[in-house]
Amino acid sequence: LLEMNHIKKEFDGLGVLKDISLAVEEGEIVSIIGPSGSGKSTMLRCATMLEEIDGGEILYMGKKAAWVENGKVMHPDKKEMKEIRSCFGLVFQNFNLFPHYSVLKNIADAPIHVQKRDKGEVYKEAMELLKKMGLEDKADAYPYQLSGGQCQRVAIARALALNPKILFFDEPTSALDPELTGEVLKVIKSLADLDITMVIVTHEMEFAKNISDRVIFMDKGVVALEGTPEEVFGADHTRMKEFLGKFH
Ligand code: ATP
Ligand code: MG
Repeated sequence: LLEMNHIKKEFDGLGVLKDISLAVEEGEIVSIIGPSGSGKSTMLRCATMLEEIDGGEILYMGKKAAWVENGKVMHPDKKEMKEIRSCFGLVFQNFNLFPHYSVLKNIADAPIHVQKRDKGEVYKEAMELLKKMGLEDKADAYPYQLSGGQCQRVAIARALALNPKILFFDEPTSALDPELTGEVLKVIKSLADLDITMVIVTHEMEFAKNISDRVIFMDKGVVALEGTPEEVFGADHTRMKEFLGKFH
């Protein structure tokens, strides 16, 4: 579904991603863990093309979405790009909801105005998504009236409303109080049953252990370890042990 080959990214001449390769198969749940500054967010931002790569190539469903030729980033034409963009969604750490839109409008806006789908149908689906998130009574509320955990669940519903094949999460619970973290993790876990492909950057080690088919440990811009949760969390690897030590 997603293939990133030899991705390089620099900021101010400093290599942040150094030859990262990663493939995600349909239905897989991949967690990305690693120290602060190791390049996890940058990798998600490159995968979702919020950030241009400096080297390597990105493919979705076998189609090239970005590649570098003679030091320049290339993309397919507009029409193909639109198709590629429609296959992924991104949930941010800080929700990024529209403050002046109701919950329902936050969810329905892009499907109606970007995907040009039927209004009635979109609202009906949006209500179903809210129900799934346990927020059906908040449809008319505004983001400021919600808790952080509720906002994040709206943000997840909003991403799902676009029917992505793959959903990226960048530390979806790190802006939340511990008592609100559980409800968001529970919602993400429930998505696993829907067979949606997920790539999750997280600092919740237990969660990563429980939910993932595969775990990737990033360190200093490279994939330092990759494997099943048992393999990665059990690895005899100095940097990994150092990193895990911070959670005890
Ligand atoms: P955290 O766990 O703290 O979120 P991270 O693994 O997500 O860390 P990144 O945000 O990807 O790390 O940052 C990797 C490195 O790239 C850091 O040294 C950061 O300062 C640098 N960096 C990221 N974005 C930019 C930018 N827009 N301009 C300059 N440097 C950047
Ligand atoms: Mg980050």
